[in-house]
Amino acid sequence: MPGGAETVDPAHVHDLTALDAAVSACRACPRLVAWREEVAATKRAAFRDETYWGRPVPGFGAHDARLMIVGLAPAAHGGNRTGRIFTGDRSGDVLYAAMHAVGLASQPTAVAIGDGLEVYGTRLTAPVRCAPPANKPTPEERDRCRPWLARELALLRGAVRAVVVLGGWGWQALLPVLATPDPAGGHPGWVVPRPRPAFGHGVHVTLDAADPQAAAPLEVFGCYHVSQQNTFTGRLTPAMLEDVLARAAHAAGLDPTPPARRGD
Ligand code: SF4
Repeated sequence: MPGGAETVDPAHVHDLTALDAAVSACRACPRLVAWREEVAATKRAAFRDETYWGRPVPGFGAHDARLMIVGLAPAAHGGNRTGRIFTGDRSGDVLYAAMHAVGLASQPTAVAIGDGLEVYGTRLTAPVRCAPPANKPTPEERDRCRPWLARELALLRGAVRAVVVLGGWGWQALLPVLATPDPAGGHPGWVVPRPRPAFGHGVHVTLDAADPQAAAPLEVFGCYHVSQQNTFTGRLTPAMLEDVLARAAHAAGLDPTPPARRGD
């Protein structure tokens, strides 16, 4: 379990509200705690009048989500500033614009908690909850944070049917979580083939539950990360992102209504 004197064991948390509160207090990774707090104290000049969140960033969205979107880790001046995942940075701008375009979000922008953003049937989360230096968590930090994601998935087991994984790093981090039974005795985990399926943009694999009586199959989609490196260079275009999101939403059994159909 993640360490730290005031950190609870995720396996003992029984609902997502409590899990979000518990992860926000985690101090298990000394390097990441120091970095997130240093960034929060020094700030970027453009945000010098704001109070940074400076803590682990919990998942965001529906508690009965049929679709999960899994990124990498919060951005130093994005989620680490605003306290909401993919909120307040360029990556989030691209992601929520695409979610809005396919009908998964109420608005195309994500500025701050309280901005009115809602997501439909979807929960966004990350394998590492603290902003890492240079956006690069270590393997040890990834592994230490894993129980939070594992428990979040377990608490969604009755509902979740599809996952979009943003980037190869998240893909590598998520597959072992999917293959592991919930230590709290809930979800049996899904069967991940060996060798593990390779990440690629648009890749789609169906994973059967280890105990098909206990859980439904999971549809897993790969998508290039919404990093500026990918979106500025055109490696990931809005159309590519919208295509994966729409396919995953359909696989999850959601029927989102794009704004064009709503007449927005
Ligand atoms: S990265 Fe995860 S395990 Fe490490 S301090 Fe942050 S929330 Fe805790």
